[in-house]
Amino acid sequence: MRRLETELFLARQTILDLLPVDRRKLLDASYYCDTMSDFDEWMLWAVRSLVDLAEKFPGEEMGGEPGTFRARCPLCGDGAMSPDVEGFQLPGGLVRHLRGTNGSARCGVMRAVVEGCLESIRAHEAGEPRIIWEDRTPPWKETPVQPLSRPIATVIEIRRS
Ligand SMILES: [Zn+2]
Repeated sequence: MRRLETELFLARQTILDLLPVDRRKLLDASYYCDTMSDFDEWMLWAVRSLVDLAEKFPGEEMGGEPGTFRARCPLCGDGAMSPDVEGFQLPGGLVRHLRGTNGSARCGVMRAVVEGCLESIRAHEAGEPRIIWEDRTPPWKETPVQPLSRPIATVIEIRRS
């Protein structure tokens, strides 16, 4: 492995070791990404799963709008930049934080994992030696990916059963 890849690997591993096991499994799965297409599939699956396991509170309890739900980031514990509200509005605010889209700063934990993953994909595509993980199906291919636009009320209903 090249030095940069080694450093990114170690940084990613240290961060992953600090996470609860349910979250670590989702991020560990990024090691199965060989291509950008794998990366896109993993990201969709990981973000969907993280939104599902985030601890949800009614919006008004966290300074948000009544009828909405909010949650702190299940990876870094962060919330929106505004001092008046806690957590992120679900699902969109948390999704933007995890993906770093629409001008939101990406979650620091997610950023370390993504940087390591993208460097590993670049090494793979350049035909460089890299770590090969066990030869099995990536976990995101075993669990069907749900669409992200699913309303949050449905998520809570599913979790009760
Ligand atoms: Zn975060």
